[in-house]
Amino acid sequence: MQLRAIIPAISFLGAALGRAEPLNLALPTDNDALLRGDGPAFYQYIEREYHGEKSTPWEGGRYGFVRNPVETAAGIIYSRLHEGIDIKPLQRDASGEPLDVVRAIAPGVVVHANQMAGWSNYGRYVVVEHRFDGCKYYSLYGHLSSISVHEGQRVQQRDQLGVMGHTGEGLNQARAHVHLELNLMLSRQFESWHEASFKNDPNRHGLYNGLNLVGIDIARLYLALQKQPALTIPEFLAEEETLYRVMLPPSKKFDLAKFYPWMVRDKSVGEPASWEVSFNRAGVPLKIQASAKPVAEPELSYLKPGSVDGGTLTMDRIAGRGANARLTEKGKQFMRLLVFPD
Ligand SMILES: [Zn+2]
Repeated sequence: MQLRAIIPAISFLGAALGRAEPLNLALPTDNDALLRGDGPAFYQYIEREYHGEKSTPWEGGRYGFVRNPVETAAGIIYSRLHEGIDIKPLQRDASGEPLDVVRAIAPGVVVHANQMAGWSNYGRYVVVEHRFDGCKYYSLYGHLSSISVHEGQRVQQRDQLGVMGHTGEGLNQARAHVHLELNLMLSRQFESWHEASFKNDPNRHGLYNGLNLVGIDIARLYLALQKQPALTIPEFLAEEETLYRVMLPPSKKFDLAKFYPWMVRDKSVGEPASWEVSFNRAGVPLKIQASAKPVAEPELSYLKPGSVDGGTLTMDRIAGRGANARLTEKGKQFMRLLVFPD
C-alpha cells in the first residue's frame, strides 16, 4: 500500500475505534508569527478613533471583543466582536498589493466561494467544510483578491484557495489581510429564517452566510494545539466560560444538537419541555441541557452577575443585568434561528 492509501486507512480505523483524530491545523499563509508569540508581526492592525484620538492597534486584529471601546462603571469594555483573526501579508508587489497565497488549514470540501466582492462584508471569501471526529466545522477565508477553487472541490491541507487581498467592507490596501474563522454551523433552516427575518436584505450565501456560522477562538486553538496536539474541539470549548443561558422551545429542527451531539447533556431524557443552551460571550454555544420548564419562545434563563449592562457585553442580544436581564428583540430573533421554523 502506498502512503497516500495508508493514511486514510489509519484515519478510518481511528474513527472506527472511537478514537479522536488529532486536529492538526495549519496556518493559512506563511505568516507563522502567532506561534512565536509575536502579535504585532502576525496581526493586521485596525484604525481606531477613540475620544478624538486616532491609533492603529494590532490587538484589533485578534479574535474576540477587541473593537469599539466604551467606558463603563467597570472600566473600558470592548463592545464589538471580531469572530476571526486578521493575518498580515508577508509579501507585496511593487504597487503594494499583497501576494500571500491563502491555503486550506485542514482537508475538506469547498462549500462556498463568493466571487462577488460587493456581496459580503467578507468581500471575496471561501468556506471549507471539515469533519473533525465526525462533526462538521467550517473554516472561512475573507477579503481575498482572487479565488482559485470552486464549490464542491475537495481540498487537502495547504492546498491553495486564493490570494490575499482587501476586498469587502472598511479595508484599504495598507490593511490588506486574510480574515480567518473556524466555525460551528447553527441551522440548516438558515435560508428560510433569513427570508422571514430580513425581507429586504437578500441572502446570497446560502447556509454559509456569516450569521449562520459562529466563530470559535481560533488563535487560542492554534496555541493550545501547540502544547497539546491531541486536543479536540469539545475539549477546547470545555474551557470556555458561560456568560448566559437561553431556554428554547422544543423543535424537530434543532440542528445544533444533531450537528454537535457532544454538546448535549442528559441524553437519557426523552422529550424535554425545553432545551437550555449555554453560550460564551462571543455567542458560541457550549452546552445543551434538557429542561422540564416549558417555554413558548426563546427566553433568557441566566446571565453571569456583573456590573456591565448585557447590551455592552453581547452586542445587544441581551438587555439589562442581573435578575432584570432579558433577551432583546434582536436576541430573540437570533435564538429563533436555532429552532426555526417550529
Ligand atoms: Zn477580520
